[in-house]
Amino acid sequence: MKKVLVLEDESSIRSFVVINLKRSGYEPIEAETGEQAFEQLKKHPDIKVALLDVMLPDIDGFEVCRRIRASNSKIGIIMLTAKSQEMDKVTGLMTGADDYVTKPFSPAELTARIDALYRRAGGDELGNGELVHGPFRLNTRNRTLEKNGVRIKLTQIEYSIMKLFMENPGKALSREDIRNTVWGRDYFGELKIVDVNIRRLRLKIEDDPTMPAYITTVWGYGYKWGF
Ligand code: CA
Repeated sequence: MKKVLVLEDESSIRSFVVINLKRSGYEPIEAETGEQAFEQLKKHPDIKVALLDVMLPDIDGFEVCRRIRASNSKIGIIMLTAKSQEMDKVTGLMTGADDYVTKPFSPAELTARIDALYRRAGGDELGNGELVHGPFRLNTRNRTLEKNGVRIKLTQIEYSIMKLFMENPGKALSREDIRNTVWGRDYFGELKIVDVNIRRLRLKIEDDPTMPAYITTVWGYGYKWGF
């Protein structure tokens, strides 16, 4: 079964999510607090995607996300945010989340987001080689990135963006291209998700993230890999 962690303290929302996940062939693993979420992750190491509510009775969802990421770069993380938390989206994504869904959300929207992350986490692609460019070495067999021989920890989404860039050196890629390739065509999210993930990726791979030299911005269009 494809397990998904559902961390949500409001039982009505949690059961809504659980019912819909079951309908879509997932096995929801429920948690009401941050502590329960950590316990469930320990008990079920095969959970590949986690849905994290932000407002919780103990620690908030961003902190949960940060702690999960500290030891697990592979799991896909989606934050469940309320409209009033709009401003927190960027914060949440910078702590290591891959995506966010704003409440109220439709079951179809939520499932599409989970499907997209599950595909990444499952490592569906068959690539089995290496992409080398400048100081970077991307191993598509074990999905790792090295810069000057030093391993850089990437989330699945960040890895997919790097792969797309390194397969298309010097080519300007539109934000739509990046979104469609990395998240999938059935993805409902805004283009801003691309910008936020690229900002985070730059923090990891650029010598000076304020003056990006590897991932450059193509104004009004998208991004380019090239130096
Ligand atoms: Ca809540």
